[in-house]
Amino acid sequence: MRLKNGEVVLHWPLAGPVVVTAGWFYSDGSAHCANDYRAAVGTPVYAAEDGVVDQLQYWDGTTKTGMQSYGTMLRLCHAAYKGGVLQTRYAHLQEVCVAKGARVKEGQLLGYSGQSGNCYGAHLHFEVCWRGQRCNPLCWLDGAFTAADGRVKLWGSSEEHSVAREAAGEGEVPGAAGGAAGLQICTVGPMSAGDAMRFMELAAELAVCYTSRYSEEGENGR
Ligand SMILES: [Zn+2]
Repeated sequence: MRLKNGEVVLHWPLAGPVVVTAGWFYSDGSAHCANDYRAAVGTPVYAAEDGVVDQLQYWDGTTKTGMQSYGTMLRLCHAAYKGGVLQTRYAHLQEVCVAKGARVKEGQLLGYSGQSGNCYGAHLHFEVCWRGQRCNPLCWLDGAFTAADGRVKLWGSSEEHSVAREAAGEGEVPGAAGGAAGLQICTVGPMSAGDAMRFMELAAELAVCYTSRYSEEGENGR
């Protein structure tokens, strides 16, 4: 999502709490230029921001070099940031459930994590690419993560840190992108329109800060 000041806070590609198993550098100090997150085979993977699937690759089942080292992989192209192309990549997937060229919304299910390609075990490999250069994903995400152990090298330099969310303004959903603000989601339904209105009135009475109605006849009518 874009903050009012134009900064980007990406949505975590996994439901939290996220455990980082490899940071910007591998624990032996060699360059990784990405993040690895703990994820069993079949873990849902979500879009980091609104975007378009601009690259989609399926693993051939054997090759572990070149682009096939990513295994089954997709990349999203997001709105430009400071005039530069911003992309996120999700690799070693087991399954993809969006097509190339598809428009996706932040937090939308993209597929399921796996261990395809050149993979030492099941995990999600996540890259952020800005202006054609890979950047440390943790600098584009909030602080809602832990490191698997003390050997994980999270940051590329001493100046790097996770991006802070600004306080939610009127009409915004606090922590809606699943971050440190402690969002709790309560889904109720299906119910009649009349019951939905009564529920929203009750929520307002209880000072639940944000409620919304999602209508089947609406954008889900495809
Ligand atoms: Zn990796």
